[in-house]
Amino acid sequence: MIPVCEPSLIGNEKKYVMDCLDTNWISSMGEYIPKFEERFSSWCSTKHGVANSNGTTALHLALVALKIGKGDEVIVPTFTMIASCNAVIYSGATPVLVDSEMDTWNMDISKVEAKITKRTKAIMVVHTYGHPVDMDPLKDLAEKYGLYIIEDAAEAHGAEYKGKRCGSLGDIACFSFYSNKIITTGEGGMIVTDDEDLAERARLLRNHAFTPNRFTHEDLGYNYRMTNVQAAIGLAQMENADKLVQARIDNAARYNHLLKDVDGIIFPPKKAWARNVYWMYGILLDGFGMTKEKLMDELYRNGVQTRSFFIPMHKQPVYAQGGPDNYPDVSADLPVSEKLGETGLYLPSSSTLSKEDLVRVVEAIKKIKDTITLSS
Ligand SMILES: *Cc1c(COP(=O)(O)O)cnc(C)c1O
Repeated sequence: MIPVCEPSLIGNEKKYVMDCLDTNWISSMGEYIPKFEERFSSWCSTKHGVANSNGTTALHLALVALKIGKGDEVIVPTFTMIASCNAVIYSGATPVLVDSEMDTWNMDISKVEAKITKRTKAIMVVHTYGHPVDMDPLKDLAEKYGLYIIEDAAEAHGAEYKGKRCGSLGDIACFSFYSNKIITTGEGGMIVTDDEDLAERARLLRNHAFTPNRFTHEDLGYNYRMTNVQAAIGLAQMENADKLVQARIDNAARYNHLLKDVDGIIFPPKKAWARNVYWMYGILLDGFGMTKEKLMDELYRNGVQTRSFFIPMHKQPVYAQGGPDNYPDVSADLPVSEKLGETGLYLPSSSTLSKEDLVRVVEAIKKIKDTITLSS
């Protein structure tokens, strides 16, 4: 079975983890944490990095550090992984959902202004599947209405908008290092920002809001710390970061080339201003002659694991059944995101996917496609 994604531990991961064990520094103090924070944040062209236990806690912490909470609204794309939306709910604020655009599969910026109210505090953008959001029109809006921009860059390590790194494009950005992300620490996340006060506040709240006067707490803090062991893996990953990103881009170029004569497949977007890092190589089926579910089943039988695209937030049972009053309004039709969710799937996308395995994936798709053509 070719997995849809697996970690690529190709460098000093084991050596650095063993160093943590040998020196007894296995918790959230130890030299790998500041080293990883420094290395990752400068790779993103940002000044400060605050490592977290995962990408979701990074998002929650970013919102809390910005003092966003009850009574506030945060604009979020409906087409995303649920953590983006949940983090807003955890903060006490209300997520306001916006539809996607076919051009980039990201939030449709032209639909954002209509959603801004007196309560709106921030716009959270998601660089979906590694393609950056068109930031310039968004920045104009944020400036006009005095809103923060939070980047959920969990899928966009190394991606660039007009030559600038994702993670450096707004007020604060959050990354995930979950095992399927381009850079992984197993579980993990990081906030990056140029704003020193914001970074300091995130650092404080990450660690129970401990003050120098040890057991006095002036804020409601959290335990969202990363361990030295996770950071050790992260630092080793950073030594190969450019390679891990480039491998994703090379995979996509190969898929695009080998699949170009197969009818009924829409390739992942790539705007001229974008460096898409293809976290996942996603395709849409359009006149392929078979449903997405059927193709996924057939591929599985041929030893190829795939995954369906996200189901939009306004279609999530958890929100539709109602709950706290800061659950998002799910009553609107958001047709582009629904179409993406219904017709999209992603193919094996690991940075260490071999050329041979990639060819096997393509051959399997072609074989399945031929059976439709023959039977019709
Ligand atoms: C993976 C991901 C997250 C959450 O990351 P975890 O580390 O799993 O908590 C958040 N947002 C997006 C867009 C993601 O893809």
